Amino acid sequence: MQYDLTTLKQAVPMLLAWFREHKRDLPWRHDRTFYTALVAELMLQQTRVEAVKEKYVAFLEKFPTEKELALASEDEVMKAWEGLGYYTRARNLKKAAETLFAEGTPRTWVGVNALAGVGNYTAGALCSIALGLKEPAVDGNVLRILTRFFADESVADDAAKKKYTELLRAVYPDETADFCEGLMELGAIVCLPNGTPLCETCPWRTLCRAHLRGEETSYPVRAEKKERRVEHLNVYVLKCGDRYALKKREKGLLKGLWEFPNEAAPQPAAGIRGNLLAQKSATHVFTHVEWHMDGFLIETKTRDPAYTWATAEEIEASFAIPSAFKAFKAWLE
Ligand code: SF4
Repeated sequence: MQYDLTTLKQAVPMLLAWFREHKRDLPWRHDRTFYTALVAELMLQQTRVEAVKEKYVAFLEKFPTEKELALASEDEVMKAWEGLGYYTRARNLKKAAETLFAEGTPRTWVGVNALAGVGNYTAGALCSIALGLKEPAVDGNVLRILTRFFADESVADDAAKKKYTELLRAVYPDETADFCEGLMELGAIVCLPNGTPLCETCPWRTLCRAHLRGEETSYPVRAEKKERRVEHLNVYVLKCGDRYALKKREKGLLKGLWEFPNEAAPQPAAGIRGNLLAQKSATHVFTHVEWHMDGFLIETKTRDPAYTWATAEEIEASFAIPSAFKAFKAWLE
């Protein structure tokens, strides 16, 4: 598809004006330093804004600069982080503070990205917000907005993040902090992830292709679900007189239901002796797994006590056998 940079360029001042007027008053938007921005960004990873708000203020009261955090004990840091979860972030934040304290604030994307706990997105955010560098930050929220803006039908994956990082870089304004935060804010309060976005309040509603086509919720296009795992099974319908062998599934998929003895193919039919009366194959598709089964109807001379033996009528009346085995159940008479 065509990415119309002229339209994106036009969209930049619209977003800046909207953000200045509508931005939420959040504690990390006051008296910002590189360190406080770092604390906020790490806290906000995987945690709701509301939960971060209180913790952020208390955390900075205890550790107002990188120096206090660098010199604190790990126990003190963990205590101050309590309630936010994902404690690896707290350890990373302390490590990053030690680096800042020892080496000073980095001045490049590479230097920021090298800090503990800082990935590509956070590096872009810190560069834009705290260092005035034109380094875009594209996460799932920004990707959602931009795929809608362009009605982009390609899959919104890591390659798309890279592509949009470059597109944003081409139009990045001097107001790097407001632009970066403006995109985040738009994703947080207008171009919402679930349900219908609030397009009527969006500064981009006259430009956004998805909105103009009324297809906002068609984007972003998700990657196809992971392919199902295929499992091969040998299924044995053992017949002795008028009774058939059953066993109860003890674990995993279909646990607690009855089934014909089976084993992962291509193992040999261990311990099963008798006359092969019939053979057929069947496939059953579950959400995440496909069973490809080879079934064998075998007449045995003795009833192995490891199994429960029941007549076709009893099975029909009292034993729940998953439909995965339907093809082999048809042998019962
Ligand atoms: S117009 Fe709607 S879909 Fe388009 S960017 Fe704005 S909120 Fe998102």
